[in-house]
Amino acid sequence: MVSGIGIGELVVILLILLVVGGGLVGLVVLGIVLSRRGTENGGASREAPPAPARARDVMFFLRFEGRDDETYVRDLAARHATIRSATQAREAALDVVRAAPTATHAFCGPATAAPNGPGLAHTGLSGGVVLGFLVRGTRPLDTVADDSSLTSVVAELRKVSAWVDSDFAGAELRLAQTAIDAPAPPLAAVRKETRPGHQLCRYCGEAFLAHDTRCPNCGGRVSA
Ligand SMILES: [Zn+2]
Repeated sequence: MVSGIGIGELVVILLILLVVGGGLVGLVVLGIVLSRRGTENGGASREAPPAPARARDVMFFLRFEGRDDETYVRDLAARHATIRSATQAREAALDVVRAAPTATHAFCGPATAAPNGPGLAHTGLSGGVVLGFLVRGTRPLDTVADDSSLTSVVAELRKVSAWVDSDFAGAELRLAQTAIDAPAPPLAAVRKETRPGHQLCRYCGEAFLAHDTRCPNCGGRVSA
């Protein structure tokens, strides 16, 4: 039978084999790639969100807007222009905690993200003032994974306000210059409901003070 096949037919059969074989190899490769992608995506979605970085040097940036807040924050920065002890770091941190609930934008992360220090912040917003607070611990300190949660940022500030002498390696608090292209991490807009002492209206979504029993925006009553 083989002898009955001409050269032309052999070439045709060979071409068909090549096409079919190539196609099969292609399908197998495609299958492997797709299955890998699937496990990569699936693996990522199953994992918990990334834990916030820890660092000995941690930077806080808080932005405030409005005449009263800005005056308060300027005075605050002037009062704590020199921090040389754990006591002074505690007092500075406590003052920042007190001011923090009205912050509009925030950042808390490893200081390596802001090589120019607390005096230069990354924001393109006009108006307002930005407070930069660099704290140096003797041990790795926690930072915040979600900077839009003011509650989380304030929680880290509270830890500094409880420092003992052995925790203190340094601290610096000042008003920051701002620039859109500053070599510093961008501040995140604070989610209103994460402001300490605030709650979120379940009818209209507006944030208001935790002790109010009615939403000042829509009049919705807070259920017990
Ligand atoms: Zn409401």
